[in-house]
Amino acid sequence: MKTDGRIHPVYAQMERTVFDRMSALAREHGAINLGQGFPDGPVPEPLIEAAARALREKSNQYPPGAGLIELREAICGYYARRQGSALSAEQVTVTSGATEAIAAAVLAFVKPGDEVILFQPAYDAYAPMVRRAGGVPVSIPLAPPEFRYDAEALAAAITPRTRVLMLNDPLNPAGTVASHGELEMIARACTEHDLIAICDEVWEDVRFDGIPHRSLMSFPGMEERAVKIGSAGKIFGLTGWKIGWMIAAGELGTAIARAHQFLTFASAAPLQWAVAEGLELPEAVLADQREGWAASRERLKSGLESAGFVVLPNAATWFLCIDLAASGVALTDRVFSERAVAEAGVATVPVSALYEGESAPVHIVRLCFTKPDAVLDEAAARLSAWRAGL
Ligand code: GLN
Repeated sequence: MKTDGRIHPVYAQMERTVFDRMSALAREHGAINLGQGFPDGPVPEPLIEAAARALREKSNQYPPGAGLIELREAICGYYARRQGSALSAEQVTVTSGATEAIAAAVLAFVKPGDEVILFQPAYDAYAPMVRRAGGVPVSIPLAPPEFRYDAEALAAAITPRTRVLMLNDPLNPAGTVASHGELEMIARACTEHDLIAICDEVWEDVRFDGIPHRSLMSFPGMEERAVKIGSAGKIFGLTGWKIGWMIAAGELGTAIARAHQFLTFASAAPLQWAVAEGLELPEAVLADQREGWAASRERLKSGLESAGFVVLPNAATWFLCIDLAASGVALTDRVFSERAVAEAGVATVPVSALYEGESAPVHIVRLCFTKPDAVLDEAAARLSAWRAGL
């Protein structure tokens, strides 16, 4: 791209995101798309009915900028039941997906020259957003297969200029969950160094380890310094709805609401009505959906293992990771993903795309398992046949 100074440097050399790119390649090659994360199968019928009803019977005009009060109250009720948190509707701002919430939080808290701690692998939006706000991302690499958080590495990354820490727990693409001790350690670092924590918890209810999610925000001293971000797209498997939210107390909550009002102002009103109803559905509806995803996870895992691939442990998210080196595949993750979509007809995501700098492991690819059994079986069969000819 020609960069004659008219374009902001953050965007001048920027590539299309790996998720969009792999989906485009999947369409181009007619491949099975296990790249970008979205479920492909039955959606919760009560939510579809609620959305259709809302289009006809509720409003199609602007909702309040912060979100419908019905939805903001439903979000508080949901977290009270699921996580025992005592939140109030004034602390909640509804956004157009979690990505907007992350942008709003970064815009609200990151000032020019501020250092922002990121753990890698990280959602590829984090670092560019921090840079566009004038901040400096300081990345701490997490090492596969465990992706554990290390107190010494965190202490070494914090300087007098550090203002914000971003944490994605459970962690995409790894599918791992921070332990209680790790969260405690991160919370302590935030309180000791007076950091704001942007907690991207979109995978909080896509967990298969049977352990209830605990937010970093719930640790001592964190309530006044944390923003908790959630996503209806992930909870209900409706990624195209783009309804997310962010929650913070006091002046933090006000600041993120102000940032949101000049980003998108408000998010689709009928879908907000539907999500509000969805969050009040009986527990069993979501439990059924989660069980379905857990079964799909086992299905893809066994298909890949039968094909000789080594699959990393997974406790959460819609993703399984293959360790190419341990599987005896002598390709880097990027080469594997580029070739597999064209030659095997299966799209994946190279995990190194979610790291910046030299620390990226180049032997791990991510596959989304929330697909019908027949699709997962076909994908595993295609990868198996293709790898035999490598
Ligand atoms: N979070 C999704 C994933 O990991 C991607 C979001 C997006 O495509 N922007 O696949």
